[in-house]
Amino acid sequence: MEINVKDNVPLAPLTTMGVGGKARYWASCGTVDELRAALEWARLRAQPVQVLGGGSNTIFADGTYPGLVLKIELKGIEQSAGAVDGEITMKVAAGEHWDDFVAHCVAVHLSGIECLSGIPGLVGATPIQNVGAYGQEVAQTITAVQALDRDSLEPVSFTNQDCCFSYRSSRFKRADRGRFIITQVSFQLRRGVRPALTYPELRDRMAGHSGYDQLEAGAAASTAVRDAVIALRRAKSMVLDPGDPNARSAGSYFLNPIILGPVMDAVDERWKATAVDPDSAIPRFEESGGRKKIPAAWLVENSGFGKGFRFGEAGISQHHALAIVAYGSRAAAVVRLGEMIQEAVEKRFGIILETEPVLVTA
Ligand code: NAP
Repeated sequence: MEINVKDNVPLAPLTTMGVGGKARYWASCGTVDELRAALEWARLRAQPVQVLGGGSNTIFADGTYPGLVLKIELKGIEQSAGAVDGEITMKVAAGEHWDDFVAHCVAVHLSGIECLSGIPGLVGATPIQNVGAYGQEVAQTITAVQALDRDSLEPVSFTNQDCCFSYRSSRFKRADRGRFIITQVSFQLRRGVRPALTYPELRDRMAGHSGYDQLEAGAAASTAVRDAVIALRRAKSMVLDPGDPNARSAGSYFLNPIILGPVMDAVDERWKATAVDPDSAIPRFEESGGRKKIPAAWLVENSGFGKGFRFGEAGISQHHALAIVAYGSRAAAVVRLGEMIQEAVEKRFGIILETEPVLVTA
């Protein structure tokens, strides 16, 4: 099969951060056969391959990526009745835009992913980091993932359990990082169900929505929740908006660390010894096995990097301490600020923050 490979394609416009250089080779793939052909093309020429989805979680280095960048453009949504009455299965091609898919589900009265409204990126990327927000994560509704094995070029199918989902992670991000290209994701959603509001920030917002309790379960209630989530995200500049300079980011730059109980005790001691107010406590949320999840944004802010901080061509969003914002075209400026924050948080708390976006070197 013939594929159309382009030379020296600028990558900055293909990412939400809008920084970085170009791809030596670039190809757009709309079918599994095109994907396979592109992988064969790269293998024949001994070229490395970098897969690119919506560009909301990828930062390309300055200079030239010395290989083939594959843009995922697989499209299509198939809807069918699930095994149980009221359950619907949606098989979604990896190249569909996630938020368009969420909007579609809400419009056809399906619930299960409405709290994940307003998240940029493509459907195929969501299982990789088990995308989650406001009390939902895709692991709760994914039933299967179809992928292409980059070594054998054979299709592979994973059940939910096979994906080894955990907090913002899966086998595709850890043990099998880079091994598969996800081509389709299946979700099991429910019709006519009132969204479960488990996240306090969202629950509070809906409590202020007069008449929410009277809204019919299904499209009306799900639409109200979707609108509320988008409003919450917009207030933090976490919705793609060309008119908002704070939205020129890759979303959260760091993962919220989850640490063991005894490590938390040590971190608390360290904080007490240096905090201006020794009675102030580090916020935490209980996780399984006595582990604690700490909001990374709080660690960043309490290490000297407040909202609106600016360092050359990069800065911190004025609306969310976890988003690094680009003001120029150089990826190096963004990455350097990320490193400075990591160093400061480690020095202050002894915690090494993990970077969430994929940093692709040239
Ligand atoms: P936030 O509401 O300021 O919360 C910050 C942290 O506190 C998050 O780790 C959140 O956990 C945790 N948290 C808050 N209330 C909690 C509760 N009652 N129980 C347990 N944990 C609680 O978060 P934000 O940064 O503005 O983001 C809003 C939502 O979008 C969060 O759910 C966040 O995780 C999500 N988000 C996800 C991604 C992604 O999937 N890659 C990227 C950006 C933001 P959770 O993380 O478990 O929610």
